Amino acid sequence: MQPSMFNVRVPLPERNEVFLMNTFTDAQIVVSPDVVALLDRFGGDDAPAFLSAEERSTVDELAEHGFLVTDRDHERHELETYFRNIRESTDQLRVTVLTTLQCNFACDYCIQGDHGDYNKHAAKMSMETAARVAEWTESRLDALRPQTFALTLFGGEPLLNLPVAYYLAERLRASCDARGVRMLINLITNGLLLTREVVTRLNACGLNGVKITLDGDRDTHNRMRPLRGGQGTFDRIIQNVRDVAHLTRISIGGNFDMETADSYPALLDFLRDQEFADKLARVSFKPVIREAQPAAKGLIPLTAVSAEGKPLNGACMTSAGTGVNRVCDTCNFVDEKMAFLREETKKRGFSTVDGVHMGPCEIHKENAHTVGPDGSLFACPGFAGEALQSIGHIDGRQDDYRSQALRQFERLAAWKQCQDCAFIPVCAGGCTVAAHNELGDMHAPNCHKTSFEAGLVALAQDAVRELVLA
Ligand code: SF4
Ligand code: SF4
Repeated sequence: MQPSMFNVRVPLPERNEVFLMNTFTDAQIVVSPDVVALLDRFGGDDAPAFLSAEERSTVDELAEHGFLVTDRDHERHELETYFRNIRESTDQLRVTVLTTLQCNFACDYCIQGDHGDYNKHAAKMSMETAARVAEWTESRLDALRPQTFALTLFGGEPLLNLPVAYYLAERLRASCDARGVRMLINLITNGLLLTREVVTRLNACGLNGVKITLDGDRDTHNRMRPLRGGQGTFDRIIQNVRDVAHLTRISIGGNFDMETADSYPALLDFLRDQEFADKLARVSFKPVIREAQPAAKGLIPLTAVSAEGKPLNGACMTSAGTGVNRVCDTCNFVDEKMAFLREETKKRGFSTVDGVHMGPCEIHKENAHTVGPDGSLFACPGFAGEALQSIGHIDGRQDDYRSQALRQFERLAAWKQCQDCAFIPVCAGGCTVAAHNELGDMHAPNCHKTSFEAGLVALAQDAVRELVLA
């Protein structure tokens, strides 16, 4: 036997104990230094020759929770199986539909918004394409027979194409009912057009929740996410949240940069004081994302930058991904600020991401699809603005560039370069979009280990708090 390569630990000197976690089994325990010493005795070439009855019992328990494993080869084999199961799982079919790339905001950091003539040219899904998306989804439902179907409506601003949003929601709800499949709808919106009518109509089809973005406190948000004429949008969005918070689960996201990060505690105070505060399902923030270089229209911006325009650490696309509860929260972040804002969020009693359970994201799942406004298929929403990254089309057309892209995505396994990193099961090598954009190589790991480490320390502190309260 030997210690698992996925063991991580945080010393708790004030209690003379140690927080132990295994990122593969998700076991988390607080133990005495004796237990850690015992675990470490298995770290050499030879297992301890003699164990007392008490030690034997502790060893059995450590093995049961995955802290001790048979051998490294077996563990690596198990890791391969874990990723294969994630890739091939048919439990859930996930489809993210970009109903339009148009947006009614003119966010400073986003090239998708209403800048200049962009919205005139931004693609919008036609009803005809929506019908074909529905047919294609039905064929996937028939082929996979999943337990659940998760439809994410995203854009641009998805509510700018309400007919398509309603059509897909209603038709696919009927398709799921006919097949005995549970349907969940996630809506990712800037919140400006979110009304009771929208939520009520989507609720009838299985709305799971709505994610809305606020970019800092009122003044900061109004500066960062204005309408084309410069008018602020904060008050309208908050009023809309107030109107629908009792009807659905609302998650609040936000995009910070070095200039705006410090306005988030004021936003959190404001949210805490609202009557809908206890209805917020999740609050989580991540860095503003910009492209490092000017790009073609329609490209989703990707690189987090500082106020000086220098790229920050890793980055990812806007906010789509694995649903309202985990909307691309794996997407990268400025590690320190992320940890700070996570703690500020928790302090005010909001549920947020823990910084450790961040992946693997949907790019590792072959039954998670992103469909662009013209029916092009993408490996994840972060690639959806880049036509050459399309891996297929709902009409089955064959194009060399799509086949080539598909082959690239099929062999994604950046984590294989991460050697014995203990965070592989929850990181999988980081965000592929960020690696592609920042490193020019989607197969390279995009590492934010320090952020995982900060999340681990926070988990340990939470565990201690629970012990104190128990
Ligand atoms: S690769 Fe990045 S953008 Fe795509 S789903 Fe994963 S974390 Fe999100
Ligand atoms: S990218 Fe970094 S944190 Fe993630 S698995 Fe690889 S080495 Fe670990």
